[in-house]
Amino acid sequence: KAKKQLSQNYQYYKADMEDEMSERLAMLRMLRQDFSHDRLELWYQPQISLADKRVVGMEALLRWPLGNGQFVSPAVFIPLAEYSGLIVEIGSWVLEQACLQIKKLEKQGFSGLRVAVNVSMPQFRNHGFVQSVIDCVRQHQISPQLLELEITESVVMDEPKIVIEALHKLKSFGIKVAIDDFGIGFSSLSYLQQLPLDRIKVDRAFIRDIDKAAGEVIAETIINLGKRLHLSTIAEGVENEAQELAVKAMGCDEVQGFMYAKPMPQAELLKYLQQASA
Ligand code: C2E
Ligand code: MG
Ligand code: MG
Ligand code: MG
Repeated sequence: KAKKQLSQNYQYYKADMEDEMSERLAMLRMLRQDFSHDRLELWYQPQISLADKRVVGMEALLRWPLGNGQFVSPAVFIPLAEYSGLIVEIGSWVLEQACLQIKKLEKQGFSGLRVAVNVSMPQFRNHGFVQSVIDCVRQHQISPQLLELEITESVVMDEPKIVIEALHKLKSFGIKVAIDDFGIGFSSLSYLQQLPLDRIKVDRAFIRDIDKAAGEVIAETIINLGKRLHLSTIAEGVENEAQELAVKAMGCDEVQGFMYAKPMPQAELLKYLQQASA
């Protein structure tokens, strides 16, 4: 009887798995289609210097609109795009948009603002990646210092050799590098020595818990680590004044979060910048 039960459970389990698989495949087909029809959007979230409250840059974040006013969460479709390899094509589109954005901002009188893009592992595995980034910067005649790549600890740990080598090449061309979601991944501190980093992004989780003993000590330790390594630090997910005051007291350089602005489409960002500079 137990055996029969087990076999039945397995059947349900298998059916569930198959449902989930086909659901994912359907979503992937939709993502491919919408990407090829130019329906993905790149939104921007401002990054602010704590010293003078000026906007110093922005992070580019992908948005997948469903057409009914709703969006598929990047937490859902980015892993799918990574798993399928589609992120390689989407990622090069993102880079191109980011370079165009830097150019556009300059034309609108906002020069010197950097644009950060998130980069996934499959992009690094692609042999032409480094050259394609350099070509993109050259083609749009932008200053490479204004382009920043954000990589997570898991990307580094996945293929340290490939990633470290690629980043060194990009760095010697002038492109900036930030380590994203710092502190939550499986990382080895020794990579901080080998990576040509410019900036550490303190993960949102520690900012959220900054009013608790553990969150506070971890955020402060990361910021100190950044300072000692002569890296710039930015706190992610700052939502209120108490969090801002806390990271500022810890010596954090920059902030990004809903307290200042949510990610927004390009046209809105332009209005935001005009208002901020007025
Ligand atoms: P991330 O790179 O760590 O991006 C920051 C995320 O935190 C964004 O979520 C942003 O909307 C959110 N955020 C910013 N400030 C606050 C805040 O004050 N409170 C809260 N609750 N959230 C805040 P989003 O846009 O949903 O993106 C999620 C993740 O998807 C990103 O995390 C990144 O890992 C990935 N992603 C987004 N765009 C791209 C892309 O173009 N390429 C790749 N490879 N990954 C991307
Ligand atoms: Mg990021
Ligand atoms: Mg992050
Ligand atoms: Mg993240």
